[in-house]
Amino acid sequence: MQKTDLPPGVTRARRDGGIVKFTLRLSDGAEVESVVVPMRERAPGRERASLCVSTQVGCRMGCAFCATAAMGFVRNLEPEEIMAQVRTARLLGAKPTNISFMGMGEPLDNLENWAASVRLLINAPAGSAVALNRMTVSTCGFLPGLRRLAALNWRRVSLAVSINAPNDAIRSSLMPINRKHPMAALRQALLEYPLRRGVFMAEYVLLRGINDRPEHAEELAAYLAPFRASVNLIPYNGIRGGEGFEPPTRAEAERFQGRLRLAGRHAVVRETKGRRIDAACGQLATTAKARAASSMI
Ligand code: SF4
Repeated sequence: MQKTDLPPGVTRARRDGGIVKFTLRLSDGAEVESVVVPMRERAPGRERASLCVSTQVGCRMGCAFCATAAMGFVRNLEPEEIMAQVRTARLLGAKPTNISFMGMGEPLDNLENWAASVRLLINAPAGSAVALNRMTVSTCGFLPGLRRLAALNWRRVSLAVSINAPNDAIRSSLMPINRKHPMAALRQALLEYPLRRGVFMAEYVLLRGINDRPEHAEELAAYLAPFRASVNLIPYNGIRGGEGFEPPTRAEAERFQGRLRLAGRHAVVRETKGRRIDAACGQLATTAKARAASSMI
């Protein structure tokens, strides 16, 4: 796409197959990335796409497998800046029907502004540029935010939780948040959360040799036993700086999935989409240093 064709504020837009990643420059010069991911159509002629939206510039959570973490925390996004990503996706020709707050940042660390944007989306008139069917918020397990979200009791917003490890030792080595809010506390917070029929999405980045052993699948299944959580297995998307990490092969990922299924847990291996344009999970970043980190190995 030529730079002159881009909607206002968009400094970059890249496509890979049906995936579109765009960078939006904000009024203070900070930038955020958003990704449109086409979804399988249920009926011919019914286009569906999911828009992955950022809620912060950078992130303070420091997950070891994530390029955004290399930016550090810059600032929270305002509600209008979150909404601007939805409008811009439309201006780029995408028709997102679903929105997932899984882009740069931890949404529940910016709860007030994020919640204000959700209210605007919920109240948007049908057919407007920001009208959507489904919303999903993803958290790394930031419990103060999760408890405040629980109190809102929002039925329209589905919950996804980045679990990524079968036990505290591995999780703390990958996700600093776990040292403050360990897995037992996270599970307790989820038990107290108004989940619909105990359902949430457990996200699990598969790191070869680190969290993908057969015994890890069994531990994970036991951890999730009180819930009807489905596990979304995401083979690691390479980032520079992610030394020591590599993705499993497809067969290894499927073996892990099979172990979870044997233990009675529904699991899917996510297709690795958008890696070539650094648009896949964990690859979003907008500072020069972090962009270097997000370039594929
Ligand atoms: S995975 Fe999410 S919570 Fe963790 S550093 Fe990246 S953006 Fe932040």
